Amino acid sequence: MTPHLLQTLDLTSLQALVVQWGLPKFRAQQIRSWIVENRAQSFEDMANLPKPLRSQLAEKAQLWSTEIARHTTAADGTEKLLLQLHDGGRIECVLLRDGDRRTICISTQVGCAMGCVFCASGLDGVERNLTVGEIIEQMLRLQRLLPVGERLSHIVVMGMGEPLANVDRLLSALDFASSEEGLGISHRRITISTVGLPPAIRKLADRDSRYHLAVSLHAPDDQLRNQIVPTNKNIGIHAILEAADHYFEISGRRLTFEYVLLAELNDQPEHAHRLAKLLRGRPALLNIIPYNPVAGLPYRTPSKEAQHAFRAILEGAGLTVKFRQKKGDKINAACGQLRRNTPENLVQISG
Ligand code: SAH
Repeated sequence: MTPHLLQTLDLTSLQALVVQWGLPKFRAQQIRSWIVENRAQSFEDMANLPKPLRSQLAEKAQLWSTEIARHTTAADGTEKLLLQLHDGGRIECVLLRDGDRRTICISTQVGCAMGCVFCASGLDGVERNLTVGEIIEQMLRLQRLLPVGERLSHIVVMGMGEPLANVDRLLSALDFASSEEGLGISHRRITISTVGLPPAIRKLADRDSRYHLAVSLHAPDDQLRNQIVPTNKNIGIHAILEAADHYFEISGRRLTFEYVLLAELNDQPEHAHRLAKLLRGRPALLNIIPYNPVAGLPYRTPSKEAQHAFRAILEGAGLTVKFRQKKGDKINAACGQLRRNTPENLVQISG
């Protein structure tokens, strides 16, 4: 198979490849800065490389391994890409504009195995883990949507898939995102969101605890969580909170708990009271996400009144609460939705 360059973007591997092609080592640095800083779309764009070399590179290697199957833009500036992978799988990634922030939301798997009942990503299960190159490719493709001079500021790993089920590759891709030679985004501006897999949270704490961790809780007790997040049956909230506390001890950084608010299922005052009791005393932020409806699923967004009442109970109990604003909902920006709403045969290539 032709080498996919985004897979080998660290300088040492790229140098090895270039030398193997019989080229001088310094070409690696040139190619790399064309891809990362100058946002080249093709080898042809690499203006300071001799023309014959550009053609030679185009024969020897591949820059991108995906095609843009769909590119949608919402009025609030949110842009979403549906990427088609070389084997036909499809993933989504999003660019969000908020003041000076340029946040991207990226996927780590094709589909998802966790089966959260309200989520579009897991409806057909998981196909496979993404490669390091495919994760990096989402970052670079989204970066290219910004005008030259504008940089990505934040990453949330909240797209399709369970990030901690593909943690080794994710961490390699995030090394690229956070390094100065890569995208230079500081670790604390990168959030990894997990359904809550205790051994993987501990592994992350030991490997690299500089990232911001968000844990999807969605229920205040195991009985309800088992219904909403089926993987909970083998795990349990207690074990998740223990692992989250461990992450906090090692990182010293406040965690986020996410709670998707589903009308009548987990949005009642009794749920808020129990949630407050569960999280009391933990230096954590509670991020409440009013449900973004998914076609074909029976779940609904709670009324504004129910949302306010839920919030008031939690704040009254002293918790730090943030409601996530809906962004880009007109373009199916909730993970997994664009993929489902796009016919298989639709591939529009746009730069
Ligand atoms: N697997 C990871 C990342 C999932 S996406 C995790 O479970 O955390 C990030 C967050 O969005 C999760 O909390 C997820 O439960 C939530 N989410 C998924 N679909 C949603 C929808 N339709 N509306 C609102 N939130 C949703």
